[in-house]
Amino acid sequence: MGKMREIDGIYKQFGISEAVSRFGEEILSSLRERFRQIDETAEYNQLKVIWAMQEAGVSEACLLGTTGYGYNDLGRDTLETVYADVFRTEDALVRPQITCGTHALALALMSNLRPGDELLSPVGKPYDTLEEVIGIRPSRGSLAEYGITYRQVDLLPEGGFDYEGIRAAINGKTRLVTIQRSKGYQTRPTLSVARIGELISFVKQIKPDVLVMVDNCYGEFVETTEPSEAGADMVVGSLIKNPGGGLAPIGGYIAGKRECVENAACRLTSPGLAKEVGASLGILPAFYQGLFLAPTVTSSALKGAIFAANIYEKLGFAVVPDGSESRHDIIQAVTFGSPEGVIAFCEGIQAAAPVDSFVKPEPWDMPGYDAKVIMAAGAFVSGSSIELSADGPIAPPYAVYFQGGLTFPHAKLGILKSLQNLADCGIVRI
Ligand SMILES: *Cc1c(COP(=O)(O)O)cnc(C)c1O
Repeated sequence: MGKMREIDGIYKQFGISEAVSRFGEEILSSLRERFRQIDETAEYNQLKVIWAMQEAGVSEACLLGTTGYGYNDLGRDTLETVYADVFRTEDALVRPQITCGTHALALALMSNLRPGDELLSPVGKPYDTLEEVIGIRPSRGSLAEYGITYRQVDLLPEGGFDYEGIRAAINGKTRLVTIQRSKGYQTRPTLSVARIGELISFVKQIKPDVLVMVDNCYGEFVETTEPSEAGADMVVGSLIKNPGGGLAPIGGYIAGKRECVENAACRLTSPGLAKEVGASLGILPAFYQGLFLAPTVTSSALKGAIFAANIYEKLGFAVVPDGSESRHDIIQAVTFGSPEGVIAFCEGIQAAAPVDSFVKPEPWDMPGYDAKVIMAAGAFVSGSSIELSADGPIAPPYAVYFQGGLTFPHAKLGILKSLQNLADCGIVRI
C-alpha cells in the first residue's frame, strides 16, 4: 500500500475507507474515454446555449422581473426566444407558472387536443403521473372527461417499436402522438434522439398532419441534438430537471411549432391573453443561469450514472443501462435483490448530501404506490431530481433508481458513500 493520498484523508473524514476509495479510482480510470466524450457533448451544448443567448441579445435588463400582469416582460420573452433557439423550434413557453413536468405535459396535451380527438402512445405506458392526466386511471379533469380517447401500443419484448401495431392503431381520430424519451421508472431502454426520429418519420408517413409531442424529461443535453430536431412538433420538460441546471426553483417548458406553443399559452393563461401575461417576478436570473449551467450539470449527472453502473456491475448487481451502453438520459437503475441493499444505498446517498445529510431516510407509504418507497434527497430545491437523489420501492426486484448530481465530485461522493454503507452492512465485499 502506497502513501495515503491527501484526497483519501478527506474521504476518510466522510467515513469512506481507503479500500472503497481505491476501488472507485480503479473504476474511474477505466472510464476516462467515456468521460472525455461526455465532456465533448457538454462543450458543444454549452456553446449552443451561449450562442442562443447572444443571438437573442440577452442583456442585463433581461434579468429584471415584472409584477402584476407582466406585460412586456423583456426577460421572459427573450428567455423564450433562447429556449426556442436551443431546441431549434419556432417558439417556446418557459414559465414559473408551469408548476412541474407533469403540468407542462398536461398543458401541452390539453391545449392541443380537442373533444373527439385520440391520443396515441406508441412506446407503451407513459410516466405514472400521466395516467391520471390521460384518464387511464379515472381522474377529475382528465382528457377522458373531455371526450379525448387514448390508445397505446406497447414496445416489442426486446424493446423495438411494434410498427405493425402502430400502423393499425393510427386512425381518423388520431391527433397527437406522445413519445416518452426516458425510460422513467420502467425497464425498457431509453430512446435515443435518432430512434425517436425514426418513429416520428414512420408515424408522419402514415398520417402527416398528426402532432408529435416528446416527453423530454431527463433527456435534455444528454446528446447534441434534441427530439425537436428529429421531427417532434413539441418537446416538453421540467425545469427542476436538466434544463434548470439545478438553479431553477420551479418551472416547465414547452418548445415547438408556433401554433402548438400558442395553444399551450392560451390554456396556461387565457384565450386572448396567451403569452402576453405572466409576470416573471424575480425568477429570471435563476432560469437564465440555470440554462447556462445545464449542459455541464447534465454531464456531471451522466458521469455519476455511468460511475455507479460500472461500480455495481463489477460487484455483480444487475444495472440498467449497463456499464458500457450509450446513454440517452440520466437515470440509473441498480437491482440489489434485497430490501437491505436498497435501504443501505439510499442512506449512503443521503449521507453525502449538502442539505439534510444527518437525516436517515425511511421507507414510507407514498400515495399512488402499492409498496413502501424509500427516497434519498438532500437538495437545495425540494424534489429536484437533477440534484443527487435516489428512490426505490421496497418490493421485488428491490431496485434503486438513482439520478442527478450537480457536480461530479458530489455524485462520486454519494456513490462511494453508498458503497461504503453496503460494505459496512456486509452486503458487498471490497
Ligand atoms: C419527472 C418526469 C415527469 C413528470 O415530472 P414532474 O416534474 O415530476 O411532474 C414526466 N415524465 C418523465 C419521463 C419524467 O421523468
